[in-house]
Amino acid sequence: MIKEIIKFRRKFHPLAELSYKEYKTTAYIEEILTNWGLKFQNFENLDTGGFCEIGEGPVLLFRSDIDGLPIEEAEDHPVKSDTKGTMHACGHDFHIAIGLGLLRYFQQNPNKLKGKLRVIFQPAEEAAPGGAEFVIKENIWQNARHIVGVHVDNQYPTGKVIVPEKAASASSTSLKIELKGPGGHTSRPDDTVDLINVCGEYITALQNHLNSSIDPRETLSFAFGKVEGGDTHNAIPQKIELRGTLRAHKNSIEKKARNIIKDFTKNFSQVYNIEIDLQFPTRCPATNNDPELVDKIIQFMANRDKSNLVIQKKASMGADDFAVYLEKLPGMYIRIGAGGQGEMHTGELLLEEKLLEPALNYLTGFIEFYFDSGSYK
Ligand SMILES: [Zn+2]
Ligand SMILES: [Zn+2]
Repeated sequence: MIKEIIKFRRKFHPLAELSYKEYKTTAYIEEILTNWGLKFQNFENLDTGGFCEIGEGPVLLFRSDIDGLPIEEAEDHPVKSDTKGTMHACGHDFHIAIGLGLLRYFQQNPNKLKGKLRVIFQPAEEAAPGGAEFVIKENIWQNARHIVGVHVDNQYPTGKVIVPEKAASASSTSLKIELKGPGGHTSRPDDTVDLINVCGEYITALQNHLNSSIDPRETLSFAFGKVEGGDTHNAIPQKIELRGTLRAHKNSIEKKARNIIKDFTKNFSQVYNIEIDLQFPTRCPATNNDPELVDKIIQFMANRDKSNLVIQKKASMGADDFAVYLEKLPGMYIRIGAGGQGEMHTGELLLEEKLLEPALNYLTGFIEFYFDSGSYK
């Protein structure tokens, strides 16, 4: 089976498509499943992605995300994107292959599945808002007990199973802030509000205020990624736009930080006599794993192959929209070591395809163990 799955991964990689536009990818997933005699079900509220289930009884959901990124792939890669400027630079081609592999394995070994596995092929993990926001409105919840998601991870050698102890990833809230003043000639800043100067003050003061208002033992990251305003050297602008991201491992801390930013911004605008329009256009919650499921996989790995189990104490500051499912249903997000070269989200990323063998080995074993040990009760 593994050879077949590796072969499919090599075909999905060149197909890389952007978020919400995974048409060819979806069609190919459907073609493979149909050839195996399985039924692929399209989503009702999305043009791409879908789900497929196998077995009978209580349901374990498994999420495979399927989108690529707007990144140009390095020329010398043996299996390379066919689409210029679009690449599977986050390894989601492996996630598709893993989703298919699970279905294939339990189709060939029906006696090992004492429940139902429903694999969700989710579009647009990389987008904001992410595809999960729409998938949760689909008809996927029937009989569902838990949800599992995996992500390949180039920071660990191939075959490692990385289990985050608490938070698996951080929340990510985007900020859009517009500072507005009357504008004017740079010869007379006293006649107007020197908006660029005030903006500099705002950025520094907001950071300081936030840092001193949150319990220092909590994790929080806040940074701006874009500052845009002004046209020329001798005109004070009327508008400056800031874009940034707020991240935390606890959703309660994220909420607190958002309120601090709101209050501070309101007060600041009054003191400096400018208008500030503050928005949080997108928000992805933090991924908090279900402790019972975490215990379960630790138990499973301890029996199967202890040397490949990594318990992660420090959670990632990255975000994954898998967290959106966890607001509906308890679940677990783990990582699979992928070795290779290059960094995630770069054109140089080259993961080791041999990761598929241990990944499927452990995941099929864990799913079997999950149902056998009655974890769903
Ligand atoms: Zn990514
Ligand atoms: Zn990813």
